[in-house]
Amino acid sequence: MICSRTVFRCFKALERLGDRITGAAGPYFVAFAVILISLGVVCFFDVIMPSLRWPLLSGPFCVLVATNLLMHYFYVVTVRPGFPDEPPREPNTESILWAKKRAPGTGARWASELVVTRAAVTKCRKCGQAKPERTHHCRICNRCVLKYDHHCPCVGLHNERHFVLFMAYLVLACVSLAATGVPHVLRALGATDDMSWPYHVPQIAFVLIYILAVVMALAVGAMCAFHLWGASHGETTVEGHDFDVYRRVAKRRGETFVNSYDLGKRRNLELFFNVGEGGYPLYTLLLPLRINPYTDGRAWARRAGYEHAGAGAGADGEGVHGGVRRGEELTDEDEDEEGEEARV
Ligand SMILES: [Zn+2]
Ligand SMILES: [Zn+2]
Repeated sequence: MICSRTVFRCFKALERLGDRITGAAGPYFVAFAVILISLGVVCFFDVIMPSLRWPLLSGPFCVLVATNLLMHYFYVVTVRPGFPDEPPREPNTESILWAKKRAPGTGARWASELVVTRAAVTKCRKCGQAKPERTHHCRICNRCVLKYDHHCPCVGLHNERHFVLFMAYLVLACVSLAATGVPHVLRALGATDDMSWPYHVPQIAFVLIYILAVVMALAVGAMCAFHLWGASHGETTVEGHDFDVYRRVAKRRGETFVNSYDLGKRRNLELFFNVGEGGYPLYTLLLPLRINPYTDGRAWARRAGYEHAGAGAGADGEGVHGGVRRGEELTDEDEDEEGEEARV
């Protein structure tokens, strides 16, 4: 447990560094990523694909992975993360890009066994916006973002699902390319008897893409695991850091910190992807479709005993989570101060 927390904290520091770099590079970074991913896809379909066995099976599988990869990246970049000053979004039932729900209902998910209660609202001291729980002010966008995770581009309530799925499909694609491309990369390097290269992609480009795929499989694999770990514990990247502080505060008082959004690993993941009971069918995870989150960002599912933790909390100073009093909860300003200290 201590080990995974430490790893989580290391990634937090890495992600902050990444935020600063990608925030500055912005559009160039996105364009560069699109070019590299497209090159990878072209390399795979030109060089590796024709040599795969069971083409009737591997063909559709590869097309599906490539489509998911490109579409989820497109969604991460184009779907705005969600802001507290805009009205709740409804799914677009006309568009073929949107998944269909089994039972048509409201945008938010109010399943009978799920306790979803209104969020506590504070005011952002940077932009003056009303700020429901889990909203944080993004320093790069200079705006409050619902269920803010990090900026890379800005990831929040409406695109976090696509962000994680994009990473998962990128890892799957890189692992597939690395595993099936071995004979081709040896051939490109002149390490086999067959020196011919009957493909459109130049040998050097294939070798470079192959190396990149191996590196990305490891790096993005770790990042994806880190995000899935957070999602399965019901916490965002920002909250992962805050909760560490709360744990220490509660421990000093002889209490135990309880994350009120944590409904158990399986339920947390179901809610994160909005699948399972009351949500969308599980197979939607395999398709490049858009799905609304289970909530509009102004209400949250809470574990038993914390139903009144949000806006309806009593006057006894009880906070949103167990072991933390109201007023002890960290704000974005605290985060900044800590960030400044770390930089000095
Ligand atoms: Zn703000
Ligand atoms: Zn941002």
